[in-house]
Amino acid sequence: MNTQPADCLDLNDFSLELLAVARLYSELEARINGAVAAACQPVCRLCRECCCAVRFCRESVDSYWLGIIAAVSGQDVGAFDEGRGWLSSQGCRLKVGRPPVCYEFFCEAIVTAEVNPAVVYALKVLGRLPGFVGARALGGRHLVTLSRFELSRVPIAKIRQRVAIAEAIFTDCQEIIRAGHGRVDRLSRVMKPPKVNA
Ligand code: SF4
Ligand code: SF4
Repeated sequence: MNTQPADCLDLNDFSLELLAVARLYSELEARINGAVAAACQPVCRLCRECCCAVRFCRESVDSYWLGIIAAVSGQDVGAFDEGRGWLSSQGCRLKVGRPPVCYEFFCEAIVTAEVNPAVVYALKVLGRLPGFVGARALGGRHLVTLSRFELSRVPIAKIRQRVAIAEAIFTDCQEIIRAGHGRVDRLSRVMKPPKVNA
């Protein structure tokens, strides 16, 4: 049995600049987590399916970046369970440091429960923000795939800028989800808006 991702890491192995941007990402992810959970909860709490799987959870244990995110957040999630991963009777035990794919999936029931396509779009963009921050972090490689050595070569300013852009997009998504409409120009950096019928 593995321990939580943070336990296999020594944060002293990483630069202060990397840890600082990891904290920014962690704070952003916590907000994304809360927003996605709030939007999906009415449907998910009635659902008898389970869309989580240990094979998805495992990336959080294997990825240095996600391990750093878990460690800097200070969350105490206990041990990784080889049979259930991070899933508990209360849902996912990881509040941050989840694999980006965990935020990207919205089942048909979630999508069809929302009648406003602008809100569905904003929700999908919200779910892609963790992946957006880490995309092409080093060459074509995503942050979550990088080794400890490769993380030391990541251009921190680029990641910091991505977090700032993602923060602005997050605010726009929240406004669309709240009001049912809003600006989509920044969201389109993450995902094309749906076509509007004339
Ligand atoms: S995302 Fe869909 S399949 Fe997964 S728990 Fe929620 S309602 Fe069920
Ligand atoms: S949301 Fe949590 S429990 Fe579900 S697959 Fe992702 S890491 Fe595992």
